Amino acid sequence: MKEFHKNFNSKLYYISIVTVIILMFAGLLVSNPRMANPGTGYAVHAVLIVVLSLCLLVYPKYENRPVRILTIMAASAYFYVLFFLYPETWSTFIFLCFIPAVSILFFDRKLFFFSLILNGVLISITFSFIFVIDNGVRFSHIEKDLTGNIVNFIGSQMIIYFIFHLTNRRIQKQRLYFEQVQNAERLKTTGQLAAAVAHEIRNPLTVVKGFLQYYAGDEEFNKEYKRNFSLLIDELDAAEYVISQFLSIAKPDKESSLDKVDIKRMLDDVTDLLNTYGLLHDNQIHLQVKGDCYVSANTIELKQLMINLVKNAIEASPHGSPISVKAEKKRDNIEIKIEDRGRGMSKEEVNSLGTPFYSLKSKGTGLGLMICYNIVEKYNGTIQFVSEVGTGTIVTLHFPQAA
Ligand code: ADP
Ligand code: MG
Repeated sequence: MKEFHKNFNSKLYYISIVTVIILMFAGLLVSNPRMANPGTGYAVHAVLIVVLSLCLLVYPKYENRPVRILTIMAASAYFYVLFFLYPETWSTFIFLCFIPAVSILFFDRKLFFFSLILNGVLISITFSFIFVIDNGVRFSHIEKDLTGNIVNFIGSQMIIYFIFHLTNRRIQKQRLYFEQVQNAERLKTTGQLAAAVAHEIRNPLTVVKGFLQYYAGDEEFNKEYKRNFSLLIDELDAAEYVISQFLSIAKPDKESSLDKVDIKRMLDDVTDLLNTYGLLHDNQIHLQVKGDCYVSANTIELKQLMINLVKNAIEASPHGSPISVKAEKKRDNIEIKIEDRGRGMSKEEVNSLGTPFYSLKSKGTGLGLMICYNIVEKYNGTIQFVSEVGTGTIVTLHFPQAA
């Protein structure tokens, strides 16, 4: 139902469908050569009109595959019955050529191929019947140039396939674009949220630090207590530093220094750091960098990005399972791949990545990937997750190569 309203204007749909239904009934009732002596064929024609009309009318309410399949079958049956029942109307052959076009409306790839194959089978039976049994008695317009008609039929199926392919690709692109816009919107909101929270925490910290510094300089204050003051102030400084880092990501700071980052060196540092962490879990990190890879970015931020991703890979992996990190130049891009053979994720989980506080770990913050998305976006990169439950995850990063 939702998809229906997204893809069609329902008013337009009903106007078109009612017009089609009126035309089908007109074909049945207005100067129909079978009307004078209606037999079984005529009754089948009438029943098929009713079935097809019902399918088209209920489709918006029950937008599921069984209704779609029924509609395609009813349409095929209807057009083939027209063809066999009214051989004098040669133009019904055109409808046979265009039956798969009906399924384009449903944006359903499998159904389209089903319809294309079904039509191929039915037309083969039809041509065989005309060639072997009918022998041009009733279908002389087809039989006279059977080869020409077969070629035309194949051509029409190819045109329909081409139209389907192009439309389908455009729809897929639009879907992707829609997801990207949604993601960008999500990032904007989370950025604002994070900035607001971080800002609110920084203020009370400043006040507490101010008082501690004031008492530290106060001669009358108990010296025993004052011994711990520098420790307290150091801890507050550390907290302030984390918050300012976080704020700089939430509100991308245009002035953060840009370095020409040597990816090999950066990844060496990151793997050195994380190997210690990985050793705890018995996970080896295999690093492989091909050629000279340079990206224009802030080194600390790129390290932060890689640490988050490799740490996630380690945390998702069972003991002893290796993690591979590969980097190489691909055209004008630098590609970095982080691959694990861990628990993997379902499609829904992958779609939720980057949402703040989305974490399936008991001690997770669910902020790591949100920060990663921000960093990737800041340096005009892309990040893609390919994952399968039980098999593992591949994270692919692309960044423009530094000039
Ligand atoms: P955190 O690590 O604090 O949970 P993240 O934003 O880094 O937060 O990750 C969010 C969630 O995404 C994780 O809790 C985990 O469920 C999932 N995830 C991320 N990377 C992987 C991976 N390589 N394999 C499986 N799940 C992953
Ligand atoms: Mg994480």
